[in-house]
This record gives sequence, structure tokens and C-alpha cells, in this order.
Amino acid sequence: MNNVVLVGFMGSGKSTVGPQLAQRMDRPFVDLDDVIEADAGRSVAEIFSSEGEAGFREREARCLQRALERSGSVVAVGGGAPMRDDNWVRIRDGNCVVALTAEPDELARRLNGSTDRPMLQPGAPSVIASLLPRRLSRYLEADVVIKTDGIGPAEVAQQLHDRLSGSGLQRIRIDVPGAPHEVTVGYGLSHLVAAAVRRHFPSPSGGGQGGGPPTVVIVSDQRVADRHAQPLIDALSGAGLSGRLHLVPAGEPAKDLAVLAGIYEALAAAGVDRRGALIALGGGSVGDVAGFAAATWMRGIRYVQMPTTLLAMVDSSIGGKTAINLPAGKNLAGSVHQPSAIFCDLDYLATLPDEEYRAALAEVIKAALIADGSLADWLSAKMPAVLSRDPASVREAVARAIGIKAAVVASDPNETGERAILNYGHTVGHGLERAAGFGRLRHGQAVAWGMEVAARISLLAGACAPETVTAQHALLHDAGLLADRPAVPHAKLIDAMRHDKKSQSGEQRWVLLREIGRADYGQRVDPSIVRAALAEVLPE
Ligand code: NAD
Repeated sequence: MNNVVLVGFMGSGKSTVGPQLAQRMDRPFVDLDDVIEADAGRSVAEIFSSEGEAGFREREARCLQRALERSGSVVAVGGGAPMRDDNWVRIRDGNCVVALTAEPDELARRLNGSTDRPMLQPGAPSVIASLLPRRLSRYLEADVVIKTDGIGPAEVAQQLHDRLSGSGLQRIRIDVPGAPHEVTVGYGLSHLVAAAVRRHFPSPSGGGQGGGPPTVVIVSDQRVADRHAQPLIDALSGAGLSGRLHLVPAGEPAKDLAVLAGIYEALAAAGVDRRGALIALGGGSVGDVAGFAAATWMRGIRYVQMPTTLLAMVDSSIGGKTAINLPAGKNLAGSVHQPSAIFCDLDYLATLPDEEYRAALAEVIKAALIADGSLADWLSAKMPAVLSRDPASVREAVARAIGIKAAVVASDPNETGERAILNYGHTVGHGLERAAGFGRLRHGQAVAWGMEVAARISLLAGACAPETVTAQHALLHDAGLLADRPAVPHAKLIDAMRHDKKSQSGEQRWVLLREIGRADYGQRVDPSIVRAALAEVLPE
């Protein structure tokens, strides 16, 4: 986390809570008004009287930029600062934004007798009535919102400290040309999703015609919905939206033409038009089918991904690929349609079975192997903590893996080049899944063995050193991904690998490992090397 930025109306307690929070977090405290006064050499009241509000706001924007350039502080900003869009972008960028709120009566009580606030003229009650509603809608877009009514500053600071040290929110930008969006990673994110839906879909359609609140269709499966849908529906309702749940079958059967048709019917019934919203709450299967529905409903509506499996968090929800299966094959009908936002609420992982969690670590390790040697080192050291789902370690592993995929996707959104690097281990992995019969072998385990074969091919082709292969093996072994060696006849496996979509005009291309943290895609490899690697890693 970068800076913690406190926003809120005058009297909400930023300047009193801020220093106490900073002390608990062992960070410096910066009060933006102090910075402005030091910069100008006079008080805020004097700036207002000599330069007017416009002059003050210019100074405020400049000082805010400077204050946020340094990281690791707790920064309290004036109540009006977030209202300028450029300030708001700066406040949110890489920082955790905390809003302190209080009821109007409470604010008026706290501000009673205050003489040094130029914005408080002609008097607290009328200023609160005229300014608060507009400002509040922006404050409620903060990452964490704390109601301070009836709670002292020390208690607010303690509550915040507990929430921030537990949640440690991280945002990762995915700069896809034409469709930039953010991934938010943390714990307990439902209220943020509601605020984001409000932000991204300023006038959602549906439901409202009959006088009810606008409707957001949430696509999920029974298993996930039973465990996790209610807090989301409550948060949406708190934001004035009605979350209408549409259930699809759990797992791969969700990616079916009839299921897709069912989602269209739900969207039609909810009156969702092009301004409408869809939320995918589930694993990769739900994300793929709901994303495809969003891509095609009325030629494309916006949607939010809320992945609930580790695989969906680090892989399938990122990159905008959506698809369903057809009798002729997996993922045959699909589209690239980027979500408006992705929320990885790590609380969801608490109910994820161990085998699903462990298998998805293959994708985290893959990300490290192809692009980030320091993540591989970190994983080597922290694997026991990651496996036992220590919250801070899970957060770091997920956020770093997402960062790697996000960067690749941003540079090649339509998979014309560099994105092929993400297929490291997948040629053999997909082949193993197909040859064993889909559903027999977990995707993650198949990919782990696929990476073992790919590393051996890299070695035999002279792309990497033996130590690289050993280091990769240790990581996958420590993650428990190499426990059962699949036994598949090579002829069947090689045949299954020919079906891989990523082969170019029939010729297999490979992602080869150069060293831990660096790989090359699109490499030709002599078939005899592939056969030799298979014989060594997966003896028949
Ligand atoms: P999944 O979506 O098939 O879900 C597996 C099971 O886990 C389901 O029964 C589901 O109900 C359950 N589940 C989900 N979240 C849970 C939770 N928090 N607690 C308890 N149970 C939970 O599995 P997956 O591994 O997330 O996704 C696999 C799918 O993702 C495949 O169809 C694959 O093709 C696709 N995929 C897509 C991309 C892409 O880029 N679009 C990338 C990789 C994989």
C-alpha cells in the first residue's frame, strides 16, 4: 500500500484521527492544509481572503500532487479536494482512500463555534445542507468508509488500523488501449463493488421503470451464491441498486449455449439495456459464460468480474477472454471483451477447497517463472505461508501474479504476439487434460507437468541451464503440484497436443524458459527434443 489518504467533510475528524492512525501504522502524518499554509506563508483563511476559493484550490491541487509523490504517509486532505477530478485521480492512484463520514447533525455539532474555516460561511447547518450531498457521493467511492458518529477519534483510528492491516488493499491498472480498467485486491470488497457499479454505470437500466431501484444482474452458481452473494446484494441495495441473482450450473457445465441463452433471458427480464450492468460472481466458468453474455448482449454491455476461485483471480478474470464450449470443442465460441472492473475479494478463498486452491498456484508460479524472478524467490521462501493461506501472503501472491498478467495483456490485448508467453506449460498441459479425458486431471496439475516438460525441452534445446530446471522443479514440488505423475501414452499425448489452438499452421510453437523470470514465446523445437523431454519427465 502506498499512502493512506483520508477524505471527508469538515468536522469528520480527519485532522484528529489522522495523526493517531499514523502513529499506529508507524507512518508520518501529513495534513494538507498545513502543507498549503507552509507553502504560501499564510493561513488558509488569509489565502481565501486574498486569492478567493479559486486561488486556494489551485494551491491545494499543487500541494496535493507534491504530498502524494512521497509514499508511505497518512495524508489528510481538505473536504473539497476530492471534488476536482484531477485531484481525485491522484488521490486514488496507488493509494488507499479512507472516507470518514458523520450524520449532518453530528457534523454541525462538531463544527459549532469553529471560526477558522472559510468554507463554513454563512454557518454550519446551511453549508452542510448545500455541500454535503454532492461531496458525500464522492467520499463514498473511497476504498474504506468509516462512520464516526458516536465514536471517539482513538476508537476510529484503531478500527481503521485493524481494517487496513487486515485488508491492505491493492489496485492494479490494466492499461488495455480503449478499455483501461483496474483490479482491486483485498478483503471484504462488497461495498467497493457497489460504489464502482454506481460509478461505472451512472444510470443503470432495468427495474427502475416500475418505480423500483435499477437492477444489476448477478450471474453466479448455487454453491458460490449460497456462500457469498448476500453481502454483495446488501451492498448494492445500500447503494440504491437491486442485485438480481441468476444462477447457472457450477463448474464447466456453465459454459453452455443453453446456459448462455438463460442469461440473455434474465437480462431481458431485468430490462437491462446498453446502459445496464452485469456482475460475474464465481470461478472461471461463471466468468467465461457471463463475460460472453456481456460481450454479446445488445452487442456488448459493461460488466464487472468478481472472481471467487484463485484461478479466476490470477488468470481467467484478467484479459477479457470470454467463451462457451460447443460439442465440437472447448472455448470454441467466444470473444475478447474487457470488464469495466475486477474485484478480487480474498475472503472468498476461505471456502475454496484445498485442491482447487493448490492447483491454481500453478498459474501463480508460471507467472513468476516467465516474468518475475523476484516473485519466484519470494514464493520459494513463502510457500508454506501461501499454502496455509496466511492473509498477507495470499494477498501478495495474488496481487503480484495479477500484475504480471495485467502487463502482458495490456501490451497484447488481442493475443497477436507477446500474450503467447502466458501459455508456458500449457501446450503439454492441455494435451494431458485432453488425453486423460477432460475433468480427470486438474488444470493446474496438468499445467505443472506441462511446465516440467517445457523446462526440460528448454534445457535440451539449449535455452536454459540445468539449475533453472532444478529451481522450477523445487517450486512446483513445494507447492504439492507434482504429487501424482500422469500416465498417458506419448502417442496419444502428442496427438492431443496437435489440437492446441496455439499451434501456427499446424506447426507447434513453444514457450521456452531462459532463466527463472524470463521466457521466450513462439519458438520452434525439433520434434525429437519434445519426445526426449516427454520420455524423461513423463515416462510411459
Ligand atoms: P470453475 O469456475 O469451474 O469452478 C469450480 C468449482 O468451484 C465450481 O463448483 C464452483 O461452484 C466452485 N467454487 C467457485 N468459487 C468457490 C468458492 N469461493 N468457494 C467454494 N467453491 C467455489 O473453476 P475455475 O478453475 O475457476 O475455472 C475454470 C474455467 O476457467 C475453465 O472453464 C477454463 O476454461 C476457464 N479459464 C478461462 C480463462 C480466460 O482467460 N478466460 C483462463 C483460464 C481458465
